Amino acid sequence: MAEYKRIVVKVGTSTLTYGNGKLNLSGIERLSMVLSDVANQNIDVVLVTSGAIGVGMSKLGFNEKPVDIAMKQALAAIGQGILMQIYEKMFSEYGRIVAQILITKEDIFLEDRSMNAINTFNALFRHKVIPIVNENDTIATDEIKIGDNDVLSAYVAKLIKADFLIILSDIDGLYDRNPALEGAKLIKRVYSIDDEINSIAEDTASILGTGGMRTKINAARIAMENNILMSIVNGSRPDNIYDILSGREVGTLFIPDKGNRKG
Ligand code: GLU
Repeated sequence: MAEYKRIVVKVGTSTLTYGNGKLNLSGIERLSMVLSDVANQNIDVVLVTSGAIGVGMSKLGFNEKPVDIAMKQALAAIGQGILMQIYEKMFSEYGRIVAQILITKEDIFLEDRSMNAINTFNALFRHKVIPIVNENDTIATDEIKIGDNDVLSAYVAKLIKADFLIILSDIDGLYDRNPALEGAKLIKRVYSIDDEINSIAEDTASILGTGGMRTKINAARIAMENNILMSIVNGSRPDNIYDILSGREVGTLFIPDKGNRKG
């Protein structure tokens, strides 16, 4: 594990909540424990979290996601605070301080803003704080949004020069076809995002929850272009993070071109 200095872990709504929208407290607790434990090994850890809209919906008793953008933003504003309250409680059990970072596309792509963000992250790392990142849904409407936290997590990994991006999903990784079909096989390693991988991502995009595989493949492309290893693993078992970091074969690993890789 000592090989890695800085990792980003992305967790989605389907891992954080049950089908009825309520929080999966044991899952969040285990995730907080594993990430605190990883941070204890002198690895800088960033958590990119979704779930603000989902938690807001549950708080206001909504069964369906509203279509209205302002309402979704309002739900995110309600849910984000609750989400942070839970993380604060869980991480503090393991002696870890967390910080909330809400960012938008501009903060990543405009130089002065990204510099400010990098400086903030670095100051937090110096104090062993775990930054918890989400998109700033109040000011990022559809046209200017990164839109999904898979891609957001890849940009964050790029911004802070992480070695490893781990995307926790509701399935075991990338399959060679719709995983509901008989004979579907888990792809263990991907060395480039070629036409075959793109077409798998298209085929599975609609059936796999929020972002599906397409957004994860987009994240992998960004990670690989920036020499960052990326893994998609099942988030229902947060201990998968230990396995990945110790080099065990779990989920799908995206390996950047060896010629470009650090080290
Ligand atoms: N920012 C959104 C939220 O926290 C999530 C976006 C996504 O699901 O990827 O609810």
